[in-house]
Amino acid sequence: MRELLRAGLAELGLDPGKAEKLEAFARLVLEKNRVMNLTAITDEAAFAQLHLLDSAALLRVADFRGRRAVDVGTGAGFPGVPLCILCPEAELTLLDSTGKRVDFLRGACAALGLENAACVHARAEEYADDRREGFDLAVSRAVAELAVLCELCLPLVAVGGQFLAMKGTESDEELARAARAIERLGGRLSRVVDYRIPTSEVSHRVAVIDKVSPTPQGYPRPFGRIKKNPL
Ligand code: SAM
Repeated sequence: MRELLRAGLAELGLDPGKAEKLEAFARLVLEKNRVMNLTAITDEAAFAQLHLLDSAALLRVADFRGRRAVDVGTGAGFPGVPLCILCPEAELTLLDSTGKRVDFLRGACAALGLENAACVHARAEEYADDRREGFDLAVSRAVAELAVLCELCLPLVAVGGQFLAMKGTESDEELARAARAIERLGGRLSRVVDYRIPTSEVSHRVAVIDKVSPTPQGYPRPFGRIKKNPL
């Protein structure tokens, strides 16, 4: 796994020396995965590419240095933990509604000495009560349909910040369905970046949504209403 990570990081223009810590995180996830459902990807090369290098690719899309970022629905820590490892100058909040996953992440971050990570057990739509527009960046992967996800993420982003939604390359219709939600919540789709995961033939996409005006009061709604009636 180490050599694959080194090659992938070099391809991204990142420090290959960080491969060791990424690998250490992978070992912690795969070890815990024996007793807890954290990931379906257990092949080492696939783990390196589809989890670690896919997360790392976000650093080519936005500059995280000196910025407060929240990973909404981080699960086993993707993309948040690789971002913490690769960009120590960023402040990452790893947010998830499943307590056991957050407990795992707290232990993993302590074991890896990640001082720029805060692990928070909360639902994103409720966390907005505490940290409304409190982040420069929100990121999220594999959590919900974009129209729903925007209501979880955009209220957390300050005006002038960005929401980076990680999606598949076949997501044109999903993006079109989210147009009204993006506008209603104070966002504007600024770029759609398709990229190849380094060392692989797999392509993924990041939809970059700029926060251009404050999210109106009343959003986010309780999750039941968001899900039943996406904007
Ligand atoms: N982002 C990770 C990844 O790409 O591997 C995990 C994806 S996992 C399929 C979705 C995660 O989102 C779960 O851990 C779940 O607990 C979390 N989640 C779902 N709805 C949420 C919400 N409203 N607020 C916070 N976390 C949520």
